[in-house]
Amino acid sequence: MSKIGNYKFLVLRRIVQICILLLFWGTNHFGWTVLKGNLSSAKVLDRFYLADPFAVLQILATGTIVSFDIIIGVVIVVIFYGLFVGRSFCSWVCPVNIVTDMAAYLRRKGLGGNKYLKLTRSARYYIIILSLIMTVILGVAAYEIINPIGFVVRGVVFGFGIGGTLLLVIFLFDLLVLKNGFCGHLCPVGGLYSLISRYRLLKVRLDNDKCSSCMDCKVVCPEVQVLGIVGKKSGNISQGECTNCGRCIEVCEDKALRFKLF
Ligand code: SF4
Ligand code: SF4
Repeated sequence: MSKIGNYKFLVLRRIVQICILLLFWGTNHFGWTVLKGNLSSAKVLDRFYLADPFAVLQILATGTIVSFDIIIGVVIVVIFYGLFVGRSFCSWVCPVNIVTDMAAYLRRKGLGGNKYLKLTRSARYYIIILSLIMTVILGVAAYEIINPIGFVVRGVVFGFGIGGTLLLVIFLFDLLVLKNGFCGHLCPVGGLYSLISRYRLLKVRLDNDKCSSCMDCKVVCPEVQVLGIVGKKSGNISQGECTNCGRCIEVCEDKALRFKLF
């Protein structure tokens, strides 16, 4: 496969991620109306909302009544990701992914990284529960106070302050402390998308007859545990933690992996 082919989804993902940030930026600087707000709750084309299910869950947990427009915005998001494209928010939309992918890339190049800290990838699900408990106790959306996604969008629009430091901490944590540490273990936003994505239509499919068990896919996958069938049997990668990033597909010289709808 050509070098360009090895990065086609990666390049496309970066274009999508940067364009979304530009649209938020343009709203504040030029009055564009494509995307207003941030990735927790955005008004699209001045007509309807898209809302992050985890942010809205926290707002509901404070006892606040959420407007019907926002509820519809959550329903659209849950249907789009949960039924169609799975946890693609993480690899195609979320700007933090650019930072954590960079840390993972540098680790693969031999920079950084102790390999000894072990943390269950289920930690993110416990953080979902903890965030909701803290929200009820504090009466404010607890995770939103530190949510790096909001910090990045605000940083791009208004300039980086403390958000830049938070991103640097995440980058160093992933680089030096735990491989795929933040997005692959801790982030409750990605965790919730994982929980709703198991029965999505768009999945990666492995044709094991073509697979030479080189394991190149496992080297680049940010959720390597989902590739357990590689080298063993054909099938779909159905675990909700797969971000549909396409990295495994584009690095597979055997063309044993592909996206599959249904
Ligand atoms: S895990 Fe969280 S921070 Fe990482 S890409 Fe997904 S939503 Fe963004
Ligand atoms: S299995 Fe493939 S598409 Fe899914 S997260 Fe891993 S590299 Fe990305």
